[in-house]
Amino acid sequence: MFLGASFIKPGDAKPARYQDDAFGPFILDEIFRRQSIMSRLKGILKKNHYCRKCDADLMGLKAHRRRFILDIVYKDNPPFKIDIEMPAIPCRKCGTSNAVNEDNTEQIICGAIAKAFESLGGILSGKHKTDVTEQGR
Ligand SMILES: [Zn+2]
Repeated sequence: MFLGASFIKPGDAKPARYQDDAFGPFILDEIFRRQSIMSRLKGILKKNHYCRKCDADLMGLKAHRRRFILDIVYKDNPPFKIDIEMPAIPCRKCGTSNAVNEDNTEQIICGAIAKAFESLGGILSGKHKTDVTEQGR
């Protein structure tokens, strides 16, 4: 299967019944804006990374994959968690991990969204009153 697309299997008995076009953009917005796990970017021509907590300069530090667990509340669904591995720069002053948006970050996030979508499936599908029959389960 393609990365992050495993929840839409062709010929699956349950074709993305809980399809919700707003979900992906919503999660992206959570990760990049509302949850404030990203480093602070300053500068106009050349963006420099700064620690989101103590404002220390993160230049010259390498990003490493780090696991972030985000609490998400989507519409009126019960809160759930998104488990995501993103490149992050650890601050040498305060130790805070600052997620950074690198080339492959969005791909990683898309995978995480697909997973979250999958785990949310039961919850979301329960909302569609016309189509709640679980086949073969
Ligand atoms: Zn810091």
